[in-house]
Amino acid sequence: MAEALLEVKNVKKYFKTPKGMLHAVDDVTFTINRGETLGVVGESGCGKSTTGRVVLRLLEPTAGQILMEGQDIAKLSEGQMRVKRKEMQMIFQDPLASLDPRKTVGQIIEEPLKIHNIISSSRDRQKRVLELMETVGLAQRYYSTYPHELDGGRRQRIGIARALSMNPKFIVCDEPVSALDVSIQAQILNLLEDLQQEMGLTYMFITHDLSVVHHFSNNIAVMYLGKIIELASSDELFAHPTHPYTQALLSAIPVPKLENRRERIILKGEITSPINLPKACRFASRCLYATKQCFGEEPDLKEIAPGHQVACFLKDKPEG
Ligand code: SF4
Repeated sequence: MAEALLEVKNVKKYFKTPKGMLHAVDDVTFTINRGETLGVVGESGCGKSTTGRVVLRLLEPTAGQILMEGQDIAKLSEGQMRVKRKEMQMIFQDPLASLDPRKTVGQIIEEPLKIHNIISSSRDRQKRVLELMETVGLAQRYYSTYPHELDGGRRQRIGIARALSMNPKFIVCDEPVSALDVSIQAQILNLLEDLQQEMGLTYMFITHDLSVVHHFSNNIAVMYLGKIIELASSDELFAHPTHPYTQALLSAIPVPKLENRRERIILKGEITSPINLPKACRFASRCLYATKQCFGEEPDLKEIAPGHQVACFLKDKPEG
């Protein structure tokens, strides 16, 4: 029986701007089971990275509950959160930007162990760092090198080793392969998958590229302008994409076999501003199927099949 590690309930993150309230994350609800991966997919600006940061409380939620093993971390004090954060780590998109260029590989991986006083003896810390380097496939000879001397794949391995140093249960992977060459992408994805199996890790995997998360994720949430507009198991989403936006995303994935190819759906129309949103479907200005109702009401996320939720009025009507 699957057990929930993380339950995110009605989480919102709004930012005040001179033009009005920006709804970066607007009432998102999802669960990630222990040892599983939720892929979170959408275009830049859809709120997926903000959701990841709010879930880790690197950004404070405007509203909602974030339950980690049943405990609402949105209610923890800063001190309590510092302790909790050891269990909840993040791997960033651009390894070079997230690694201190003045520190060696060994110093970067060692840093969290020092800050959180996990291992006090420097000899033991070095031993642990070398173990972590081996775990992520980084040769020991890189211990004293600097991040800029390494390629993107190795730099990302440093970021992964640093996240693992805390023995986390949960990792938010924020576009961890999008800055890497395709061949290196596969190596890092395989590494993350192996680590998940060996250590029972739970991932929230954020990406703009649906094809990256297909085999990697148990479930996939598609986000658009701060909302989850479709949520299903990975296989179900690829077999029965239902929201017009998900269909457009899927149609853009290159497929080798001609008979499996979908007709490419090119999205036209302006993206609705996330500031002072009208009461309407957020996708209406770009949707091929929009009706009058879509411009006057906002669809709720509803279950259309077991475990498959969609926010679209088309699905409110009986098929036929
Ligand atoms: Fe398109 Fe209307 Fe469905 Fe929105 S609710 S996705 S505008 S058909």
